[in-house]
Amino acid sequence: MKINYHMHSQYSIDGEMSIEEACEKAIELGLKEIAFTDHLDIDWPDPNYEFGALDIEKYLIDIEKNRERYKDCLKIKTGIEVGLQPHVLEEVEDIIVTYPFDFVIASIHIIQRMDPYQGDYYKNRTKEECYRLYYEETLELVKEFSNFDVLGHIGYIRRYSPFPYEQDEDLICLSLIDEILKVLITKGKGIEVNTSGYKHASKTPMPTPRILARYKDLGGTIITLGSDAHTIDDVGFGLDLGCSVIRESGFKHITSYTERKPEFISII
Ligand SMILES: [Zn+2]
Ligand SMILES: [Zn+2]
Repeated sequence: MKINYHMHSQYSIDGEMSIEEACEKAIELGLKEIAFTDHLDIDWPDPNYEFGALDIEKYLIDIEKNRERYKDCLKIKTGIEVGLQPHVLEEVEDIIVTYPFDFVIASIHIIQRMDPYQGDYYKNRTKEECYRLYYEETLELVKEFSNFDVLGHIGYIRRYSPFPYEQDEDLICLSLIDEILKVLITKGKGIEVNTSGYKHASKTPMPTPRILARYKDLGGTIITLGSDAHTIDDVGFGLDLGCSVIRESGFKHITSYTERKPEFISII
């Protein structure tokens, strides 16, 4: 499927491509539609990483300029990936309602003021404790917060985990994951298939096919597809594989967004 709904440009502090470079690469790969989803993680615990410092005005102007420029060959959507923490939800809400985003991903990157990327999160905890804490926090946040379209990269906690991957590790927290999926479905929210997961030892997207199938069984219908690209090399990463997994999980559509309204694109 020629679509990528999770891309970071240089407006994210960890993005390495300009909006223009990303568009050029998307066109070269034959993508028909992309959404930029730069980071807005308010109150990131490490002051050396200003993930909350997105210059939204400039970001939106830049996207608009490129939208016009490439209008004959590429649909470009203005998205954002907001990081949720319990104490920032009001501030996040204010930003989302202030700007005309097409699409909002809500992600959990920080758990109880800890960044799993830094490694301390995993110290003095078993694998089960690490995973459980992440899913418990996710459940509370999706209950509390509603102004988003899809929940980002379910299973993110495995990305920096020092524990060896085990094939059935989804089962550790399956009942908590079910609770999260039920809340999302009740609220009319979707999930994304994040193909950056294929870089992990599990060689699966986030979430895994098992969780994707659970979302379907529980009545979920909204799936977006994205590679979480921060560089031009990843603009097309894993998208065909991700789309196959969505299809094999029984879904007949993936979702695009315009002004926060979902549209369903056939993948059969
Ligand atoms: Zn993320
Ligand atoms: Zn991302």
